[in-house]
Amino acid sequence: MDRKTRIAVVGAGLGGMTVAGFLQRAGFPVIVYEQAPSFSRIGAGIILTSNATKVLRRLGVEQMLVDTGIKADCYISRAWDTGKTIYDIWFDAESEARFGGPYVNIHRGDLHAVIHSVVEPSAVAFNHRLLEVKESADAVRLRFDNGVTVEADIVIGADGVNSKVREHLIGFEPPRFIGKIAHRAIFPTELLGGYKIPDCTKWWGPDRHLLVYFMTHRRDEVYVIGVMPRKSWDTEAASLPSSREALFEGFGHFHPDLQRVLNVVRDASVWPVFDRERNDRWSGGRVALLGDACHPVRPFMAAGGAMAIEDAAILSRCLFEFDTPAAAFRSYEATRQARVGDVQRISVENTWMGGPTETDWFYCYDACTAPLAAPQPVRAT
Ligand SMILES: Cc1cc2nc3c(=O)[nH]c(=O)nc-3n(C[C@H](O)[C@H](O)[C@H](O)COP(=O)(O)OP(=O)(O)OC[C@H]3O[C@@H](n4cnc5c(N)ncnc54)[C@H](O)[C@@H]3O)c2cc1C
Repeated sequence: MDRKTRIAVVGAGLGGMTVAGFLQRAGFPVIVYEQAPSFSRIGAGIILTSNATKVLRRLGVEQMLVDTGIKADCYISRAWDTGKTIYDIWFDAESEARFGGPYVNIHRGDLHAVIHSVVEPSAVAFNHRLLEVKESADAVRLRFDNGVTVEADIVIGADGVNSKVREHLIGFEPPRFIGKIAHRAIFPTELLGGYKIPDCTKWWGPDRHLLVYFMTHRRDEVYVIGVMPRKSWDTEAASLPSSREALFEGFGHFHPDLQRVLNVVRDASVWPVFDRERNDRWSGGRVALLGDACHPVRPFMAAGGAMAIEDAAILSRCLFEFDTPAAAFRSYEATRQARVGDVQRISVENTWMGGPTETDWFYCYDACTAPLAAPQPVRAT
């Protein structure tokens, strides 16, 4: 694409900032529009697998990730009742060389700070909540809740699971509550009183699971996320306060090693889990979607953020490579959809690393060098 092509990205999350970083480096005029007034340090951690960290390396922030988060040395799966190890994987220099990048656990607030450093601050417009997208033959017009209207040649919808840009392409469809909630808690390691825990453990129960991991290389902050069934989520709120008692209600019957961890939880919050049916319409005209906006992934494989980051790398390469939005978007979809479909399916099954697991196809993938698929014919709409 002509480097004068004006590109608007909606959403300054993981996918939006990554794609903006790549496009800006290639010389495109790109502006990111974000509804939030700024980013707050929400109480949660995130796992960035090597397929994600090697993309972020190209934006110059690998060291910042490692310095802020932790290169976890293992991921251990244990049975909820016996405590038996049912799967483990160890991360060291050798595995990092094989996978091509480190495996990093990090606080989401710290990750936001890292990811925001990849784009010129003047190219991020906070306080812009997208209300409407209008497309004509030669431009796209975006209208925001603050009264501002802007025009761009290409729009990338990186606006998450409730995407307004998706609504423009497909029509309004609320995301699906999957009948599970996630209790999240963070506490200082010193509360464990010297009790040693591995860098990352997933406890597997029949209908629920719980992860415990460190989020800093000092190993001074522990993150707990426990996912369990709930019939409905009947509030507009993104999250609600939770408690140690609620965690015990859900996981009090798990192995005593876990009880020692849950015992020291002080504050917690509870979040609904949403996804959508697979839908391979990710673009149309001058508009394309990425990340949760087009394929929300259940958070059971630690892969949704990684998929948004991979999308960003592939979509930006397609925009460098092809002359028209249609060709770029067809190649992007053809390159991404099989892999993302596999990840969505495995995440729904919640089987990843719950037993013998072939991980290389996921971890070794490099979205910055993987071959781009030929553009597929334009679909009839
Ligand atoms: C409990 C839980 C645990 C998870 N753990 C992991 C993990 O360990 N590893 C992993 O890789 N993934 C994980 N994920 C998934 C991951 O968080 C998401 O897949 C990822 O954040 C998607 O990135 P995104 O850029 O597509 O969207 P988001 O990160 O959701 O960003 C969307 C942005 O768009 C903005 N926005 C929305 N609407 C508008 C609008 N109308 N106008 C302007 N701006 C707008 C939002 O404010 C937001 O900043 C987890 C998810 C959950 C729910």
